[in-house]
Amino acid sequence: MTNQTINLSDKLYQYMLSISLHEPAILKSLRETTLKLSSHDMQISPEQGQLMALLVELIGAEKTLEIGVYTGYSSLVVALALPETGKIIACDINTETSAIAQDFWQKASVAHKIDLKLAPALETLDSLIKQNHSNNFDFIFIDADKQNYLNYYERSLTLLRTGGLMVIDNVLWSGRVADTHVHDKQTLAIRAFNQTIYQDKRINISLIPVGDGLTLIRKR
Ligand code: SAH
Ligand code: CA
Repeated sequence: MTNQTINLSDKLYQYMLSISLHEPAILKSLRETTLKLSSHDMQISPEQGQLMALLVELIGAEKTLEIGVYTGYSSLVVALALPETGKIIACDINTETSAIAQDFWQKASVAHKIDLKLAPALETLDSLIKQNHSNNFDFIFIDADKQNYLNYYERSLTLLRTGGLMVIDNVLWSGRVADTHVHDKQTLAIRAFNQTIYQDKRINISLIPVGDGLTLIRKR
């Protein structure tokens, strides 16, 4: 069959990485540090990071926003791909994991590009909108609490410039979105999010089955 996405066995996944992944040493080191935490599976996969870096470079992004930092892998990926004048506003509420992130941003000499906002992301987004940052961001990555995805999406669409790129993580949610027996709040929220943006005429989308499912959204 050629009209569907190929299934990746462990062997094929390892092959894919062996001929495509170039993970910088600092990112590898952050991955190893994060592996010691029980929550480590919240981190994006390295090939997903490499895709995001490529996208940031392709659109020539300078002004970017991240919702959900954790130990800082995705923000470090983006910061390394940004030009020297590029900036990230990074939103999270967890001081412990953010401290790890800040440590690695410093080690990678990109800390000056990242403005960490330790507050509920909705508050940060609302204040950005109030401060006239609408239609201003080139790139926005959404990867925080799933119940707020639609709230983050609406605000992010306001903040994104026309032609800008929004990237949403975990849209396939380990397959639970397609399992009709699953009704927990997070799964329902991701299903509602996927359905809503599918019908939204303000955007173009593409869902990439990388990592836990990544939706790319371009603002028309
Ligand atoms: N992008 C990260 C993973 C993010 S995990 C990486 O590449 O490693 C999700 C993060 O969302 C967690 O760090 C959690 O603290 C944060 N989060 C949860 N609820 C939040 C909220 N209301 N506002 C901001 N951040 C939140
Ligand atoms: Ca995620």
